[in-house]
Order: sequence, then structure tokens, then C-alpha cells
Amino acid sequence: MTKKVCSICGKEYEFVPHTGGHVIFCNACVKRVLDQLNKHEEIVKNGGMFTHCVVCGKPIKNPNPQRKACSSRCGETIGKIRRTEYGRQHPRKSTQTKKKPIKKDLHDNSRLDEKARAANKMGLSYGEYVALMRR
Ligand SMILES: [Zn+2]
Ligand SMILES: [Zn+2]
Repeated sequence: MTKKVCSICGKEYEFVPHTGGHVIFCNACVKRVLDQLNKHEEIVKNGGMFTHCVVCGKPIKNPNPQRKACSSRCGETIGKIRRTEYGRQHPRKSTQTKKKPIKKDLHDNSRLDEKARAANKMGLSYGEYVALMRR
């Protein structure tokens, strides 16, 4: 087991490599920041704002509803934690995930198919058929 130093609290923790990114913070910090992010969301929803950094807890200068971090460094930390957590919850699988077809594309494709079928019936290529229909 590899020991790493958490870049938030400075404590040593067991580094567990896993798919979807590396955990570069200790579990306690990841959990705390995620908790704070949830709280932030709730407070903002209710028209309030966070006056303390969700990462390090320092007061935020010029707080506003979008602000969650005291500095760009803490802002980056939030991004890293989010990616880490996403990777943990969505581990890459060997089998490909099914792609959901987008409705609009599906519609266009079926129309395209229809024309292609009609062209086939007339013994024309799709391009020739389209040109013919435009006349
Ligand atoms: Zn930590
Ligand atoms: Zn901070």
C-alpha cells in the first residue's frame, strides 16, 4: 500500500489507485468537501451564499452565490474531487456502455432511410434520387 500526503489536510493516507483517476486527497477530506458542496447547493437554492471555502474553510473575500472556494487553488481542488468521486461512482467497465440515441438524430436517420429505400426501389443511388426529387 502506498502512502501519500493529502494536499488538503497534510495527513498521510493510503493511496488506492483505481480506474477513473487517482485519489489525491484523503477520504476524510473528499467526504467533507462533497458534504460542503451539497450544503452549498442547498444554501444557494434558498437564495443564500457560502461565506467560507468548501475546501479549507477560510472565509471567502467578496462572497457571491457562485463562489465556493477562497482561491483558484481551492477551486481546482473542488474540480479534482468531483472528478475523483465521479470516477469512483462510474468505474470504467470493459463492456461498452449503451449509447442512448438522441431523438432528433433518430428522426433524421429514419427519414434518410426512407429516401434511401425509395431510391433503391427506383434503381437509383441516394444522390441521384435526391437530385431527381429536387427537380
Ligand atoms: Zn485530507
Ligand atoms: Zn480555500
